[in-house]
Amino acid sequence: MDAVVTVAVRLVNMLTAGEAHGRPYAPPEGSARPAAVTAALRAGRRDTREVSADEAAEFAAVAEGLRAVFDAVAAGRTDAAARLVNDMLATTGARPHLDRHDGEPWHLHFHGAEDSLVTGWAAGCATGLAVVLGSDLRGRLGVCTAPRCDRVFVDTSRNATRRFCSTSCQNRVKTAAFRAARRGCVSPGPTGDHPLQMSTAEQAPRTPVSRRTARPRRSARAGPA
Ligand SMILES: [Zn+2]
Repeated sequence: MDAVVTVAVRLVNMLTAGEAHGRPYAPPEGSARPAAVTAALRAGRRDTREVSADEAAEFAAVAEGLRAVFDAVAAGRTDAAARLVNDMLATTGARPHLDRHDGEPWHLHFHGAEDSLVTGWAAGCATGLAVVLGSDLRGRLGVCTAPRCDRVFVDTSRNATRRFCSTSCQNRVKTAAFRAARRGCVSPGPTGDHPLQMSTAEQAPRTPVSRRTARPRRSARAGPA
């Protein structure tokens, strides 16, 4: 189950346009796209074959659907998130299936109504998000709260305190907070402006970031294949 959720996060972050770590983000195009999708899938299952350009285009559509679920959860619209996941389960025909191969013990796979690579993974990702949404872990699907970043994550920290997609974004926010605090120590200028009001996008976070609790953790299974 961890594997399909990991893949869902990777597909969204790789294939949906927006902002990443303070910069505009455009998904890879041309031959880079199938390679990127293959890498995302292999983060969950190493023996996944390479995807074609057509399949990569289909995965881009799947990723948009997955992002909508993360966005809804992050906005507190859990009902909407649940409806989106139910739609994905229905359209992919997701069904659990016990498999046994390559000397592994029996384990659960999630198949689609038909056995194409894209539908199978879409069914698996939808099921993974369904399990998270249907449990106490539902609030752990997140969208990065750093300025100019909308990459998604699943919070696997013990205290469920993760707010950023990456250490890169965490460090950006910490640096901005540090600078804002330092400006706060300087006496106001002749106009009397409060220094904190002069900062714009890189404004200080509402609460200090704890170095220990906010650090994103990668599970062993989530590492690159
Ligand atoms: Zn981020």
